Formats: sequence, structure tokens, C-alpha cells
Amino acid sequence: MHTRRAFLQTTLAATSALLADSLGAEKGAAPAADACAFLAPEDEGFAVARALYNGCIETQPKWIARCASEAGVRHAVLRAIEKAWPVAVKAGGHSFEGLSLNDDGLVVNVAAMNDLRLDAKTGVLTAGAGCRLADVNRFLMARGRFLPAGSCETVGLAGLTLGGGYGLFARKWGLTCDHLRAVRMVAGTGEIHDSRNEPDLLWACRGGGNGNFGVVTQLTLQTRVAPKLFSSWKFRAFNLNAREATELLKVWFDATTALPREAFSAWVMNGRQVTILLTTIGSPSEKGFTAFHEKLKTHTDKAGDAGTVPLAKALPRYYGEPGPQLFKNCSAGFYKGFADLEAALPAVFAEVLHEPGMIFQVNTLGGAIADGPPGAYAHREYGYLGEQQAFWENPAHAASRIAAAGRIRGHLAQAGIRRHYVNYPDLAFPDWPAAYYGEENYRRLQTLKRIYDPQNLIRHAQSVRLPA
Ligand SMILES: Cc1cc2nc3c(=O)[nH]c(=O)nc-3n(C[C@H](O)[C@H](O)[C@H](O)COP(=O)(O)OP(=O)(O)OC[C@H]3O[C@@H](n4cnc5c(N)ncnc54)[C@H](O)[C@@H]3O)c2cc1C
Repeated sequence: MHTRRAFLQTTLAATSALLADSLGAEKGAAPAADACAFLAPEDEGFAVARALYNGCIETQPKWIARCASEAGVRHAVLRAIEKAWPVAVKAGGHSFEGLSLNDDGLVVNVAAMNDLRLDAKTGVLTAGAGCRLADVNRFLMARGRFLPAGSCETVGLAGLTLGGGYGLFARKWGLTCDHLRAVRMVAGTGEIHDSRNEPDLLWACRGGGNGNFGVVTQLTLQTRVAPKLFSSWKFRAFNLNAREATELLKVWFDATTALPREAFSAWVMNGRQVTILLTTIGSPSEKGFTAFHEKLKTHTDKAGDAGTVPLAKALPRYYGEPGPQLFKNCSAGFYKGFADLEAALPAVFAEVLHEPGMIFQVNTLGGAIADGPPGAYAHREYGYLGEQQAFWENPAHAASRIAAAGRIRGHLAQAGIRRHYVNYPDLAFPDWPAAYYGEENYRRLQTLKRIYDPQNLIRHAQSVRLPA
């Protein structure tokens, strides 16, 4: 599938430059403090402000408000109220389904709001809603601090945190939203709220705040002392059939149960090849860790050691490929263990083996995530998260990849997989409110929707609905 890189370099070069420009231009050219520039499709800067990581999304807003301050955001929301425009909110632009854009409405783009401030005494970070993960990493690591988050450098801190946010460090320290201490938000009413006075708002923004109630303008997060060293390994198994892949996945699930919290692992099937990633910020000689290593070594064809390096050197290895890309990715569900998934595997693996460009991945969660603070994130008891990915280079392959992804979704649903990660959305999930939030949390989010956005101004295809 990795010929896609060559394709993207040529076919999507122009759009890629546009996206790269958008990061620089929006960061560098922040207008005056209370500014808000309204851009129409024919205006210079509109394409940059609209650019998404997913190159398949064709949604076309009527206006984009490029905001550089909370006052600018408020101005944009008040204008939308006056004109009865629906509002979508965009930060890093990585929503798989393009939920940060809308058709024929207003998009509030906060990318220029990328200030970062650290209280050196308490380690509390105050971040503008437009910051991207690489900015945050660079800023904090230069000061000996760290925020556990996702891997891809251009993902927006706001979108990631408001939906949860997991990565290589979540088992040790919890989700990114578990580090959230406060948000400021311009609600759908145009009023400014600070969650320091409204604990329910903080609760909602820990996993249920993506484009539902208003525009979050600022996030306050507790950071950690940066770990110094990071170790990683890769195991590879080749030419697997569905039965062999199933056996290897079972071995992996079993081995992960003894992993220390410092460790993370991902099991990734791409066609007939499985790659297993193992990382730790702890000691590689810890017992559960060495047991995992020994077991996987004997069940795979090739084991490679990337060594132990300073964290700052390791992180860019996981920054991923630049966008835009052509793909259809979505959650493949939360699992408590292998048994949750077993019934679906023959059919799921048949799809991955048959359709080129399909990837099925399972990541470890668990550890500190289980003990996180109260919030709308509803999946703390699940120790694993699945993701399915479909990539293509030639647009002519889109239909068959998307169809295969749909069949995988069906196989998983048939096996009883019901819970999904809101940051890996799929417009085709039938009961998305319960899948993303659980029924109880969704009802509570609906109550908050009535308070913060009673006219349902802030909305997208899977935003929290007003209560009936
Ligand atoms: C390449 C790639 C790698 C990823 N890696 C990880 C990972 O390692 N871990 C992980 O947990 N997730 C990961 N994700 C998923 C990611 O967390 C979500 O896509 C996230 O929502 C993206 O946030 P964004 O700000 O970049 O996107 P956007 O598209 O701008 O926004 C995403 C959603 O958040 C809402 N939103 C954004 N800003 C605000 C705001 N200021 N106020 C209110 N709502 C807002 C939008 O309305 C939209 O609904 C990855 C995604 C991609 C494409």
C-alpha cells in the first residue's frame, strides 16, 4: 500500500503545499487581538482555512471566520446567530469525517489562536485552541515538561482533547482529557463561559466537547515531568492467513495483560503482514515487559530493536505522513479482551487479506485510563481500542475500499462491538450517541446542550442533539 506515498507526492502535491501553508500562514499571520476575518470561497485564504487532513472531504462552507482571539470568536458566533447560519468549529482539521466543516454554513477557524503559556511552578499549561501537538511537544519539552497526547504532529490539541486523546503514554498517565483542568468557551448563545465556575462544562469537555456546545477558545492542562528516555521494538510476521493472524492476535492480547503501565503496544495487520509495536518509558528489563518481548519474538518472523533514545528524538518517528491523504478510517471498537473480538475476526481478516490498502489495528489502553477523573469519556473499563483504516492512491479505488470498510463495520457490529471512539468517527455508525458516550452520559450531554446552545447553532452530522 505504500506506493501511496509516491502518488501523494505527485497528485496531491499542490493540496499538500496548501495544507502546509495553512499551518504556517494561520500561525504566523495572526491579525489584531480582537480580529475575525470572514472569508468567502472566492477570497484569498479561504482554501487554506478550509484545508483538511482527509483529502476526500468535499464539504464547502459558505463562510469561514478566521479568528485570532476570544473576542473574534464571539464576534463570529454573534454574526451567525444574527444570520441564522449553522456553525462548525475547526482547529487542527483532522476529523476523519470532516466534522469541523459544514455545507453552506459558517466555520469558526481557531488555528491562529496558538499561544502557549506554562506556569513553571505548577506545570500548568494554558494553550490557545489552535495549537497543534508538535507545537505543544516542542514548547513543553524545551521546559522539561510533557503532555500525554496522540502521535501525529499536526493533530489539533483542541479536537484531540475534547474527544479524549490517547497515545503512547496514556497507560502511564491517562488520556489527554484527564489532564484538562479548565476550558474557556464561547457558547452557541454567544456567551463566554469558564469551566472554573461550571464544573459540568469541564465534565463535558473531557471526551464530549467536540463541536457540540460552542467554540472552546482556551484549554488549561496539567503537564507532567518529561520522561528522559524512550525505548521501542517492532516485531513482524509475514505471509499470514486469517487463522495465523488470529492466533498471533490472541498471543498479543495475552501478552499485553502483563505489560507495565509505562508500556504501549499496537498490533497492526496490513494485508498479509502483521507489525507489532512495543514501546516503554520505563525499564525494558521489567518482568512483564521482558515476558511480552520473549513471547512475541518466538511468534513472529523478525524482531527489531530501535533502541533507547531521548524522548525528544523518539517522538518525531511517530509524527506520521503529511496530509492531505485519501482514506477512510474509523473506530473498530473498544474491547475488554480477545473474546470480544473473536467472533468477528474470520470475516474482518478476510476483508483485510482480500482488499489491498486495508489495515486493522488494535492498541493498548488500560492502566491509568481506568482511574481517570469524571468526564464524558465513557470507555474507561475497556483495555483496547481497534481502528480500521483504508488508504488509496488512485481515486478509482475509493469505492471498493469504502465498501470493504463498511463490511468490516458490519462484521464488528454483528459480533456485538457497540462502543466506539468519538475521535475516530464514522457517519455510518447506526447508534452513534450510545457508541460514543454511553446512554447515561449522552443524556447528560443533551441537558448541557440545552444550556449552552439551546438553538442548536453549533452543529455537525454527529453533534449532541437537543433533548426531545
Ligand atoms: C493522522 C491522524 C492521527 C491521529 N492520531 C491520534 C492519536 O494518536 N490519538 C488520538 O486520540 N486521536 C488521534 N487522531 C484522531 C484525532 O484525535 C481527531 O481527529 C481529533 O478530533 C482531531 O482534532 P483536530 O483539532 O485536528 O480536528 P478538527 O477537524 O479541527 O476538529 C475535530 C472535531 O473537534 C471539534 N473541535 C475542534 N476544535 C474545537 C474547539 N476549539 N471547540 C469545540 N470543538 C472543536 C470539531 O468541531 C470537530 O468536531 C488522529 C487523527 C489523524 C487524522
